[in-house]
This record gives sequence, structure tokens and C-alpha cells, in this order.
Amino acid sequence: MSLLPLHAAHSYRVLIQRWRALARRLGVKLKTLAVVDGVSVFWLETKNSFAVEAIYLSSGVHGDEPAAAWGLLVWAEENEDRLRAGNFVFFPCLNPHGLMLNTRADYQGQDLNRRFHLQEDVVCGPWQKIVTCRRLKVAICLHEDYDGQGCYVYELGRRGAPKLAPDMLAGVSAIPPDGRKRIDESRAQGGVIRRSRVPKHLPGLPEAVVLHELGCGLTLTFETPSEFGLDLRVRAQVEFVNAVLSATEIAGNTAA
Ligand SMILES: [Zn+2]
Repeated sequence: MSLLPLHAAHSYRVLIQRWRALARRLGVKLKTLAVVDGVSVFWLETKNSFAVEAIYLSSGVHGDEPAAAWGLLVWAEENEDRLRAGNFVFFPCLNPHGLMLNTRADYQGQDLNRRFHLQEDVVCGPWQKIVTCRRLKVAICLHEDYDGQGCYVYELGRRGAPKLAPDMLAGVSAIPPDGRKRIDESRAQGGVIRRSRVPKHLPGLPEAVVLHELGCGLTLTFETPSEFGLDLRVRAQVEFVNAVLSATEIAGNTAA
């Protein structure tokens, strides 16, 4: 069975309708982050509690990566009980124009994922205000890669922190890990690219790097290969989020 309505992969309207219905069922509000060239960008959180560490999830930074946005929605729809019990902050689609136009770029033709440090950016400025006043335990940023030969993940964590990404990728069965030794100019092993320091000489700061610099304990950027079938990619995104939550819950219990 298909996980999303036929031909709706780039329909921001349908995507947000489903998020709005989910928010209603959870008893929370879909809030406006920004209005970009007449289109609202939304976010939501399941508990308005700054005392509890939150799990951060986002997608849709690049619009030509639709399985990320649909995977996040399907995961949330399949985990309503978990959402009611936990503290989750969602940014369901940070670049709606990109999704609608099937482009990587935002409404200005710029790569949003090099603009997260910019307060003056119409999306990243309000985004910074939300993330800086919350304690984030784990951040999951969902993406796709047209060069990808399987799934892979960038793990950006504290030095010496437990290495959880291999277990997380093992939880994804819909698409196997990308076996390349170098991915996007970085050393990779079994689909994992691990960093404890921010890469130098970046033209602008990606979402994951800003979250890491703000103190988020573990930041994961997950990529599905966009030449694979859409339903498989959506399922792989769902499986990855499930695997992250399982791995971090186990790690959290062990630490306690
Ligand atoms: Zn991307």
C-alpha cells in the first residue's frame, strides 16, 4: 500500500492538511514559524515544557527530497502515543517553495541549509529563537541525496559520546546502507559519517551544525537515495526515526 496519495509528493497543501489533522488529534497547535512569499511555514511541539529535554525533528529543507517530508509525517502519524508521552519539536517542512517546485533551493534561489546562522533569514531567524530556548537531547534532520547508493547518516555528537549511528542504520531494512568509503567528500564506514567537530571552511552553516553549536547532544542528518522508489524511501525514513528513538532510549537508560 502506498504511504502517500498518488501525485501528492510535492503538494505542500496536502502535507500540511495531514499535519493539521494530526495536531488536532494530539490536542496541540500547528504554529506559524514564518510567512515566506505568501506561504506559511509551520512548526509544532507536543509539550510546551522547557523543563524536559526535547527530541527535535525536521525535514523539507531541500524541496527535491520529498521522502524526507513525507517520512516525517508518516512516522508522526504512526507514533501518536509516543508523541503524547514525550516532548517533541517538529519542523515539518522548512522550505515549502522548494517542495512545491521540486527544487533544492528556497524561494530566493538560495540553499536554506547554508543559512541557519543568519538571524536576518525569514525562516532561520524565527527558527533560532525557538531552538535556542529549548534543551534538545537529539536532533534528527531528514534529507535525500540523488548521488546516494543507499542510506547514510552524518553523526555529529560530543567527543567521547557513545557511537549509536551503526545501530540506527541497522534498524533500516527498506533500503540498505550506502557502502561507499567516501561520501560527499567525507570518510564513511557502513553508511556512517561521524564528526565531533564542525567542518571548517563551510560557505554557511547547515541546520545540524547550528544545533550542535547550540549544545544539542546528538545531531543526525539522515539521507535516503533519491533514485530509489518513493515508498521505499518514505519507509526508510520512518524506520530511521524509530531506530534513533530506540537507540537513544536504550543509551539514556544505560546512562541512568
Ligand atoms: Zn538535503
